[in-house]
Amino acid sequence: MYCPNCGFKNEEGSVYCANCGTNMKVRTTIVYPNEETVNNEKYNPWAIAGFILSLVNILIGATFIPGVLGLIFSAMGNSQIAKNGGKGRGLAIAGLVISIISLAGYFLLFALVFGLAACASCFVLV
Ligand SMILES: [Zn+2]
Repeated sequence: MYCPNCGFKNEEGSVYCANCGTNMKVRTTIVYPNEETVNNEKYNPWAIAGFILSLVNILIGATFIPGVLGLIFSAMGNSQIAKNGGKGRGLAIAGLVISIISLAGYFLLFALVFGLAACASCFVLV
């Protein structure tokens, strides 16, 4: 290996340069963050959008639209993070879970309400 300071050819694996004494281990193990790793530190926008929409669905889930979009966005965010890396995996998974639970909850509520409305005798029983 060559010394990064003076260019002297040292034995492979040597820590200090035999010529100038530079610590080559320290010099060569410094990893400078490149643009790609910096980008991967950003939160995935789909994961954020999916998570927010899944929360919105809890509040106004009667339309089912934010829940369905939240489910799609979270799934997209999750697959993008799995492929390209980046932050927001927890958000994406939370968005998926919240979307599914809130959609299922509202679906059951609707089924119950319409089921009861469709059957007048059920009201008597309830
Ligand atoms: Zn040297």
